Amino acid sequence: THFGFRTVAKEEKAGMVADVFHSVAAKYDLMNDLMSLGIHRIWKRFTIDCSGVRRGQKVLDLAGGTGDLTAKFSRIIGETGEVVLADINSSMLKMGRDKLRNKGVLGNVSYVQANAEALPFPDNTFDCITISFGLRNVTDKDKALASMFRVLKPGGRLLILEFSRPVFEPLSKAYDAYSFHVLPRIGELVAKDAESYRYLAESIRMHPDQETLKQMMTSAGFENTSFHNLTGGIVALHRGFKF
Ligand code: SAM
Repeated sequence: THFGFRTVAKEEKAGMVADVFHSVAAKYDLMNDLMSLGIHRIWKRFTIDCSGVRRGQKVLDLAGGTGDLTAKFSRIIGETGEVVLADINSSMLKMGRDKLRNKGVLGNVSYVQANAEALPFPDNTFDCITISFGLRNVTDKDKALASMFRVLKPGGRLLILEFSRPVFEPLSKAYDAYSFHVLPRIGELVAKDAESYRYLAESIRMHPDQETLKQMMTSAGFENTSFHNLTGGIVALHRGFKF
């Protein structure tokens, strides 16, 4: 099915996203490295470098999945800080917790099962919120942005790392071919799950482009919003502040 292109009911989309991530959880890290040729590590490193997070601060790694960003933040903030890895999906959350424990990350990490659309934290809680390759999967993105704005402290920043629109045509064509033909094959071979990776390609195409997402952040109340294209716009890092 090409369910990404149908107009689907909200509950239906949420259910599909849940199925996809229960299905891919066990192979998630391996697939990330294979599909991006390891480049996702560079995108994530850049995100950390733009976060401005310091020792003792409180960070929310939303849709944190297997916790790549959480692990890095945990080292930066030290024992006096706190990073919350929040994800809606229990399988992804479990993979994240097991992986971080094996890596021996500090006791400054907590794990919360939560929907980005209705974050279970008090107002003005976090110095920084990251959502990396997560917003695309959220059903009501405006509601999620409003929820993030609410739990961010005044002076805090939101960073959204997400697939976006390649900025020039030849790259866009090659990338389309890759994501619609090569990705599902890799999914089939490695994770025995072509359908989930077809969903991935379709969800990328459906996601708002750079300018639209920036506008959505502004509408949610964020200020000084900007974005930075990575790998020719295949991915973009958006940033916004709450003042
Ligand atoms: N942040 C990790 C990374 O960059 O590798 C994981 C990204 S993974 C592609 C997307 C994650 O978003 C999944 O773990 C999924 O469960 C989570 N997710 C999807 N919808 C969500 C929602 N409404 N609220 C919170 N997390 C959600």
